[in-house]
Amino acid sequence: MNNTHQEVPIHKIGCIQPHGILLVLEASELMIIQVSQNTETHLGISPEELLGKKLDRIISSNQIEPIKPYLEEKEFPGMDCLEVIVTNHKNEKLFYIGHIHRYEQTLLLELEKDTNQEEVSLIDFYRSSEFSVSQINNDLTFDQLCQIFAQEIRKISGFDRVMLYEFDYDWHGKVIAESKIEDIDSYLGLHFPAGDIPPLSRHLFSLQPLRFIPDVNYRPVGFFPETNPITQEALDLSFSILRGVSPIHIEYLQNMGVGASMTISLVKDNKLWGLIACHHKTPKFASRGLRMACKLLAKILLLELANIRRTHNYQYQVQIQNKEKDLIQIISNKQNLFENLRQYKRQLLELFEAEGLGIYLGDHYDTLGRCPRKQKVIELIEWIQNNYHQPIFYTNKLPKIYKKSEAYKTIASGVLVMSLSNNPWQYILWFRPEQKHMVNWAGSPNQLVYLDKNQKLHPRHSFKQWQEIVDGKSLPWQTIEIETAFGLRKSMLEIGFQEMNQLNQLNYELQQKNQDLDAFAYIASHDLKEPLRGIYNYANFLLEDYGDRLDKDGVYQLETLVRLSKKMANLLDSLLEYSRLGRANFSYEEVNLNEVIEQVLDMIKGRWEENSVTLNIPRPLPIIKADGARLYDLYINLLSNSIKYNDKEDKIIEIGYLSETEMLSKFSHHQLHQLNDPPFIFYVRDNGIGISSEHKKKIFQIFKRLHPPEKYGGGTGIGLTIVQKIIERHGGKIWIDSIVDTGTTFYFTLT
Ligand code: ADP
Repeated sequence: MNNTHQEVPIHKIGCIQPHGILLVLEASELMIIQVSQNTETHLGISPEELLGKKLDRIISSNQIEPIKPYLEEKEFPGMDCLEVIVTNHKNEKLFYIGHIHRYEQTLLLELEKDTNQEEVSLIDFYRSSEFSVSQINNDLTFDQLCQIFAQEIRKISGFDRVMLYEFDYDWHGKVIAESKIEDIDSYLGLHFPAGDIPPLSRHLFSLQPLRFIPDVNYRPVGFFPETNPITQEALDLSFSILRGVSPIHIEYLQNMGVGASMTISLVKDNKLWGLIACHHKTPKFASRGLRMACKLLAKILLLELANIRRTHNYQYQVQIQNKEKDLIQIISNKQNLFENLRQYKRQLLELFEAEGLGIYLGDHYDTLGRCPRKQKVIELIEWIQNNYHQPIFYTNKLPKIYKKSEAYKTIASGVLVMSLSNNPWQYILWFRPEQKHMVNWAGSPNQLVYLDKNQKLHPRHSFKQWQEIVDGKSLPWQTIEIETAFGLRKSMLEIGFQEMNQLNQLNYELQQKNQDLDAFAYIASHDLKEPLRGIYNYANFLLEDYGDRLDKDGVYQLETLVRLSKKMANLLDSLLEYSRLGRANFSYEEVNLNEVIEQVLDMIKGRWEENSVTLNIPRPLPIIKADGARLYDLYINLLSNSIKYNDKEDKIIEIGYLSETEMLSKFSHHQLHQLNDPPFIFYVRDNGIGISSEHKKKIFQIFKRLHPPEKYGGGTGIGLTIVQKIIERHGGKIWIDSIVDTGTTFYFTLT
């Protein structure tokens, strides 16, 4: 069962309260086309008799003429407090107060008897409102101001209880001020569940700011005819002041011990902010004049409330904005904003009233104050990424929406998470601790309504205080804090963007230089090969033809020339190959890696057999999209190295790849994300000499060798540079894991 008062279409309830009459008029002729059934009681004229008559049957045309032009206007907003003289069946003149409005095609005129004798005189009203207003001064707190208005409204209206009711973000309401007679229970500080005032009622409150029910035991008055002749539907009473009351609301008021009620809506920025609820134990009539006076006081209150809230907010706003300004100033003067963000932890933490600050950059998590652990934060960020796609996420009740956070709710029931980048992760997180507190409800919020044995819905009987301990919630994030977070993020990204632009420019220049270098290497190696071959050949000819005429030294020098020119030719070949890699187009097709390995093994069979090598391939390699010929080069280089740089008697080499579960157990989500979430991670492992950590990056540099050429049958130092280039051209990454004297594993991805 829905835990709320039933949503009957109360704006089309089909009846009014009996303290006035309602006439529906056809707009152009002002002809009465529908009328409330109580005209006989008020005017002695039956509804049947009025129907089809023009309005001047009861109100003289000279009273109507002045307002007629307004009635014809399409956007006619309605008129209140029209003093009219109505003629009854005895031709007597009666004083009435009219309220006229148009709703869609119909004009509705509501007439209430002018209860002159009870009227608050203008002077009285002026006196009391002037007194209320004179009590307002800058030193008043928000609560004091509300209290003054509750008292003043009770003073002029004479209701037993006047309370000010403020809606929370979830539409439950809290009584923030109350003035009452002594012998009734106080509701001050109590919370009323959102279901007490359902959405439709709230909507009607914002349309018609004053709702008056002088007698909850009233007899509803229907219409003649029952449906609106123009729309052929039940008459829409959204803007009516006499509108009948839903039976369940009547019962609600009766259960509360209320005999009459007057409710004034407090609408701020087009949103229902709160209500002034006036209750009387017995039926009570408040004249139109009195109601108007109360409405006006409510308006003054709203203006003042806005002022007080604004000053309070203003101070906090200024404070927060100053801190934000200072922070932006510092960070904009420093280089590498994101890398250095952790230097500003203190300022970031102090920006908002938080107790913990976490900065997650790349793979590093830094904290200040009370924060959840790294693993928890990783899970939290992943959950936010999957469920909310906004740059800033905030809540003051994390455990309610993310169950896993229950474990650390004492430090982070509230979080504000700012994402600067998803790849790599750049996140700033503010944490607010749980604030356990007691909420006093007016009756149990868990049982607002119940069904009787005839399936009829009833409101709760008891409004006795019911206590709830609220946990898993922190202090809420204020609008100004959220706005500041958005502003700060924007500034940070702008600063970061400028840095990135500078970096891009540098990259571009570097790329240009690289291309020039590539071109240079190509031309140099290509053009040098020819003369070098000449030198090599001529040195050989010399040796062959004149070798016997030269002394030992001469022969040795010529032999060195041959050897060096050969070596140089090899170097040039490698350089040429490398420069070609940068320029060539790769052709990507389905490649069966098992076949590639087979060809590679075929090629290096000789070296294989000279050494005692055991090769493991734990499972068949996958078929992938790649350039097969380049992968052949890649594996040749890696496998040759793993044999070359291996001094063990039994050389063991393993070629394989990590499955998804192996990847997840070896690397964090975040690391995999940084590797572009590859489908596979490939590896070549050996039990060779290993590489010390300081050389792990250097080995990929061009012509970088860790050993003299004669040791380990070393090469030109370009093999791994080529491997890296091939991998990069496939969009992958290469890195190593190595222990000196134990062995090396080369890992790489290809996407
Ligand atoms: P080279 O042509 O000299 O073999 P590479 O670029 O292939 O050049 O390798 C660069 C250096 O990295 C080598 O000189 C060697 O010191 C080191 N290296 C490469 N592979 C391995 C390996 N599997 N184990 C140990 N050291 C290695």
